[in-house]
Amino acid sequence: MQIRLPHAGIVLLVGPSNSGKSTLLKSMIEKKEILPSEVISSDDFRVLVSDIEFIDWRDRPKDEADNLMDEYQTISREAFSMMDSVIDARARLNKLTFVDATHLHPDDRKRYIALARKNNVPILSIVFDIPEEDLLSRDAGRENPRGKKRIKQQFQTFKREKNYLKKEGYMSVYLIREHDNLQFIRSKNPV
Ligand code: ATP
Repeated sequence: MQIRLPHAGIVLLVGPSNSGKSTLLKSMIEKKEILPSEVISSDDFRVLVSDIEFIDWRDRPKDEADNLMDEYQTISREAFSMMDSVIDARARLNKLTFVDATHLHPDDRKRYIALARKNNVPILSIVFDIPEEDLLSRDAGRENPRGKKRIKQQFQTFKREKNYLKKEGYMSVYLIREHDNLQFIRSKNPV
């Protein structure tokens, strides 16, 4: 599959945990198809604002799990607020930015569609449509597993949201299952 990248704009990666978003971006950086500075990742921004890489609330008593989830949400709010400022600045400067987060909730995606419109740059989405059993088996092999419950919830949300993506207003929506056969064609000229 060929994926056409604009000269400037926003590329929204959409997919549950373990769908391979960061892995694809890492391989694109290694192949020098994109610059490391063109990737804005929610995981990196959580670390930047809080020093915390991962919060694990699985198998904790309910009160403790609720507190940890609250802490994670507070950190995430701060992280996304910083991320959005950087993405906004990059759009104003006519840069291309890949946003690496799950983007499973419509409000999160709408924020970037509005941001792209405001700055007059295109927005496209790369959607990772990976079977639930693959997401779960990759999670089990991960250093910091997200946990079955969370992956299953994310997969259900993804299954529902997948149907709406095409109508949300992207320049293009690329639905991918594997990323080995992807070919990126990058426009050199401002469009
Ligand atoms: P998150 O949203 O949690 O950051 P992600 O979608 O960015 O997840 P990755 O971080 O790219 O997912 O990958 C998560 C795990 O799945 C890693 O252990 C990675 O090696 C594995 N993985 C990713 N893509 C593939 C693939 N195509 N085949 C097998 N394993 C994969």
